[in-house]
Amino acid sequence: MGNAAKRKKLIKKIKEKIADEYDEPKRRVVRPPLDQLVQSVLWRYTGVKSGVRAFRKFKNSFVDWNEMRVSTASEIASTISTAQWAYECAKHLHTILDNLFHLRNVVEMDFLDDFTQAQAVTFLRSLEGVNRDLTDEVLLFNYGANKFPLTKPGSRMCYRMGLIEKPSPTLKNQRALMEMWDQEYFIGFTLFLHDYGDPVCKAEKPKHHKCPVEELCPQIDVD
Ligand code: SF4
Repeated sequence: MGNAAKRKKLIKKIKEKIADEYDEPKRRVVRPPLDQLVQSVLWRYTGVKSGVRAFRKFKNSFVDWNEMRVSTASEIASTISTAQWAYECAKHLHTILDNLFHLRNVVEMDFLDDFTQAQAVTFLRSLEGVNRDLTDEVLLFNYGANKFPLTKPGSRMCYRMGLIEKPSPTLKNQRALMEMWDQEYFIGFTLFLHDYGDPVCKAEKPKHHKCPVEELCPQIDVD
């Protein structure tokens, strides 16, 4: 089988996995933009299902995001897990919430609904702790923007699968993936990469045996 045919089979397999595994793209409720940002940060630290559970715990533990802002990172972390990732995630979220409050004097981002896409990008990127892939993810999930949020672990996995030329989240790689995938799959593929990019296709010693594309992946070495 040629490379193009193998890649087609691999993409088909990922699409099947997306259809099986993620309710999210099918019956997705659009959250307020700050809720989505919090959820997207959680996905980066603990994957999709665990991130959704952690988000619910936040909602049950704090009256609103401002209550979380005035809490310590240890207090925030203790509501979701005793593991180190929870503390790192809590510090990240606290930084964002505190910075939002200092910029806007509120701890919500519903005002983004009235912004143009360019204004929303500028605002989100001005927040400490919000990088390009988090910005793209909020725009994709909340506003259906034609953006594909490519993280570092996601780009490493895509490179090993032979989908992009370099293992880094460059604009060139982002554009290459956007041309390869129909926009209707952007959300599902984003969730797939959150679940398998860091937890499975690790920088050191990737767990090929736990990967749904093991048999189809060329497993290209990352130098
Ligand atoms: S098979 Fe291995 S190298 Fe390929 S995507 Fe899965 S974990 Fe990564």
